[in-house]
Amino acid sequence: MKFSGFKVVKEALTGHKGWTPLWRNPEPKPAYDIVIVGGGGHGLAAAYYLAKTFGKLNIAVLEKGWIGSGNAGRNTTIIRSNYLLPGNQPFYEFSMKLWENLEQDTNFNSMVSQRGIINLIHSDGQRDAYRRRGNAMMISDAGARLLSREQLKDMVPFLNFDNARFPIKGGLMQTRAGTARHDGVVWGYARGADMHGVDIIQNCEVTGFKIEDGRVLGLETSRGFIGAKKVGVSVAGSSSRVMAKAGMRLPIESHVLQAFVSEGLKPTIPGVITFGAGHFYVSQSDKGGLVFGGDIDGYNSYAQRGNLPVVEDVVEGGMALMPMIGRARLLRGWGGLLDMSMDGSPIIDKTHIDGLYLNAGWCYGGFKATPASGYAFAHLLATDTPHETATAFRMDRFNRGYVIDEKGVGAQPNLH
Ligand SMILES: Cc1cc2nc3c(=O)[nH]c(=O)nc-3n(C[C@H](O)[C@H](O)[C@H](O)COP(=O)(O)OP(=O)(O)OC[C@H]3O[C@@H](n4cnc5c(N)ncnc54)[C@H](O)[C@@H]3O)c2cc1C
Repeated sequence: MKFSGFKVVKEALTGHKGWTPLWRNPEPKPAYDIVIVGGGGHGLAAAYYLAKTFGKLNIAVLEKGWIGSGNAGRNTTIIRSNYLLPGNQPFYEFSMKLWENLEQDTNFNSMVSQRGIINLIHSDGQRDAYRRRGNAMMISDAGARLLSREQLKDMVPFLNFDNARFPIKGGLMQTRAGTARHDGVVWGYARGADMHGVDIIQNCEVTGFKIEDGRVLGLETSRGFIGAKKVGVSVAGSSSRVMAKAGMRLPIESHVLQAFVSEGLKPTIPGVITFGAGHFYVSQSDKGGLVFGGDIDGYNSYAQRGNLPVVEDVVEGGMALMPMIGRARLLRGWGGLLDMSMDGSPIIDKTHIDGLYLNAGWCYGGFKATPASGYAFAHLLATDTPHETATAFRMDRFNRGYVIDEKGVGAQPNLH
C-alpha cells in the first residue's frame, strides 16, 4: 500500500475500507542470515537500510515488547546536528540529511519539522564555546547562526532575559534542526523494512546467545531458539544487560531520563530552546503541549520511571528561563532508560565474538541519530567495514585513549 494525497481522498470517499496493516505479524523462522535485537528506532532503521540499500534478504528484528516501546517512543523528539568534535559532527550531519529526505524515502509521514533550535548563551565563555561550535558546524555544512540578545528578544520575547544568575546574552541557532514525531519514525521504518521482506517479531525477548568457538550461532528467545549468521544488538538502555548474556562487560551505565508535557497551549514556542546553564529544554508539539526535560535522575537504574526530585529540578529550570510556564498545567511525565557511555558518544562496532555486532551508548541524544545510526549499523553488518561517518565509534577507543568527549567532562557518564 502506497500513501499519497490521492489515496487519502479515495479512502475518504469509499468508507476507508482499503487501508491495510502497516507491517505483517509473522511467526519466527528457525534461522535468519541477520537478526537485529531491539525494535526501537535504531534497530528498525538498520533492518530497513540492510534490506533496501544493501540488498540483504532473510532478516529479522526481535523486540521483547512492542516496537517503539522503549526510548524511541519516550523521547522529546529533538533532531539536530550541532556538534563540535570531528568524530561526531559529520555523523550527525549525515543523519540530518537523511532526516530531510526520510518521509519521501519511507513514503510515511514522520512529521519531520525543521523549526530550528536555539542554544542560549549566558556568559562570555559560553559565547566563545558556541562560536567555536558554530564554526565546526559550518565546516560540515550543517549551518549555524550566532544570535544577539536583541535578535532573541524579537524571536522569543517570553524568556527571562534579565535573570540575575543566568542573564541571556545571545544564542547559537541551527535553523535546520527541529523535531520529528517519534512514533511516526518507528512506524515508517517498520513499514519500510516489512515491505522489503524483514520479519518484525514482537513479544520476543532475547534471553541468551549461542556462541561456539568464538562465533555466534543464534539466540535463545522467549519464542524458542532462532539461528543467525550475524546478530546486531541495538537495545539502547538494556545494552549492558543483553551483552552480559554474551559474556561482555560494556563501558556503559544505564540511567533514567524523564520528560514532561503540559496541557495544550496556543502556538508559543517557535522551535526548540535549550537552557544549558540550568539544564532545561523545551519545544511545543503540534497538539500545543510544551514538551520539556532536563537532567537525568543521577543514579544507575533499569527502571523506565523516574523520581520527584528531578521533576522539581526540571520545573525550577523552566521557571528560571520562562516564568510563564508556571501558568501551564502539567499533563504527563514519563521516564526512559538511557545507555550512557563513558565519554558521551556512541559505539557502532564489531565485537570480539565473530558475527556479533553492537550499536549502543546513545546517552540522551540517540533519537536524532536514528537514521544515520541505522544506516551505519547496516553498513557494518553488510560489509564488515564501518561507514565513513562512524569510524570513530569504535569500542576500543576507551583502551586506546581516543575518547570522543563532546562535553569535556571526562569519564563521567552521568554528566554527559
Ligand atoms: C525522556 C527522553 C528524552 C529523550 N529526548 C531525546 C531527544 O530529544 N533527542 C534525541 O536525539 N534523543 C533523545 N532521547 C534519546 C533517544 O530516545 C535514545 O537514544 C534512542 O531512542 C535509543 O535508540 P532506540 O530508539 O533504538 O532505543 P529503544 O527504543 O529503547 O530500543 C531498544 C529496544 O530494545 C528492546 N529490548 C531490550 N532488551 C531486549 C531483549 N532482551 N530482547 C529483545 N528486545 C529487547 C527494548 O524493548 C526496546 O524496544 C531521549 C530519551 C529519553 C528517555
